[in-house]
Amino acid sequence: MFIEPYHNQHQQNGKKTGWIEVVCGSMFSGKTEELIRRLNRAKIAKQKVEIFKPAIDIRYHHEDIVSHNSSSIRSTPIQSSHEILLLSGDCDVVGIDEAQFFDEGIVEIANSLAFNGKRVIIAGLDMDFQGNPFGPMPALMAIAEYITKVHAVCMVCGDVANYSYRKAAGKEQVMLGETDSYEARCRKCFHL
Ligand SMILES: [Zn+2]
Repeated sequence: MFIEPYHNQHQQNGKKTGWIEVVCGSMFSGKTEELIRRLNRAKIAKQKVEIFKPAIDIRYHHEDIVSHNSSSIRSTPIQSSHEILLLSGDCDVVGIDEAQFFDEGIVEIANSLAFNGKRVIIAGLDMDFQGNPFGPMPALMAIAEYITKVHAVCMVCGDVANYSYRKAAGKEQVMLGETDSYEARCRKCFHL
């Protein structure tokens, strides 16, 4: 269970500093649900929240972050990580979903946002379907103050799963729109 940090822990010389949280895991692990949970709690507390996701992820709806259980929250699709700095303005909390699809520039952007007093919550796949670290996620995890790895249940044996196994053929790292083509699997069943 993730306990949200206290703002008071993030004061430097009276100036409020932000921080970075990463929520990572395989497909079907509830990453986006956890991101939405944290963002909704901030909204209830009247904090200003902005949410971004890569324009590449158009699985369900162009303007909504939608998790697989269909609890959703409005988001802005963007082409490049640099747009986040331009669009986040005076908000308190910046949410970023599907961060594995962003360019490496997102690492510097996340640092800038946190340095400027924002709470940055980033969700993404930590590994691709071949079990390799995915895009900028390793670097984002390195610079984050807080990391939460959430898990799915292995669809073969029922163990704790942290891999996204692709059932369909094809070697491209990004294959969107076909959640049917994937299974969450544990280490043993992933390598069957
Ligand atoms: Zn298994």
